[in-house]
Amino acid sequence: MTELLSVASLSVFYGANQQAVEGVSFAVPSGSVVALLGANGAGKSSIMKAVAGLVRGTGALTFDGERIDGLPARERVARGIVYVPEGREIVGDLTVRENLVLGGYNVPAATRRTRLEMVLELFPEIAGKANGGAWRLSGGEQQMLAIGRGLMAGPRLLLLDEPSLGLAPLLVRRVFDRLGTIRGESELAILLVEQNLRMTMRLADEIHFLRGGRLIGHKRAEDLKDETARQDAVDAYLGAA
Ligand code: ATP
Repeated sequence: MTELLSVASLSVFYGANQQAVEGVSFAVPSGSVVALLGANGAGKSSIMKAVAGLVRGTGALTFDGERIDGLPARERVARGIVYVPEGREIVGDLTVRENLVLGGYNVPAATRRTRLEMVLELFPEIAGKANGGAWRLSGGEQQMLAIGRGLMAGPRLLLLDEPSLGLAPLLVRRVFDRLGTIRGESELAILLVEQNLRMTMRLADEIHFLRGGRLIGHKRAEDLKDETARQDAVDAYLGAA
């Protein structure tokens, strides 16, 4: 499998004394789902934002064979790197449909229409509410809208920041199953940030464990199929520092 994204020796600082990410290296192969797992404050969001171009880091980021770390965020979106933020950040005053159209502002109108249909088909829960205010949506529906808005931009790499946050397990399963469907139908790669190993296992091919801004372990999902292996990984990588 070829590498779509390569992150090499990435560090992220906030001010002179606050280092959030320290020398992190990993790759996202084309069409695969790679997860970053770690507790609050481990540096997961900072890595995502550095890839999206929303915070500055040091190190090398390569996407589709070209260096991107000098590019502004909008140029990375144009190349197919689309970030779905934690907390969703949908526009409550707009309708569901308007929020989706906003996500595809940079694509030709005909493509936008086709994608809108695709997204509404993928998430029938929000299709029925497309003309209503986005503020009316439940938490799970808001997450679907946020992902749908991301898909409107036509990503090759979707950066998903804690899509399970605040959702009941059943809804998380539903959202992850839909993402599995998109993967099955396209070449979309996903970089996923999560805290919950069990949920992550539903979607991820590989998992990197993160603590204190550093990568401390790596597993393939197939190595974590049995409960004992999973529990061992939780104890080793996700327990107290
Ligand atoms: P969470 O799930 O809580 O978002 P995370 O693993 O995504 O956690 P980050 O948000 O990347 O972690 O934060 C890593 C470290 O950087 C933390 O110590 C955090 O307090 C700090 N940090 C994050 N954003 C900023 C910021 N804008 N300014 C200063 N420090 C920050």
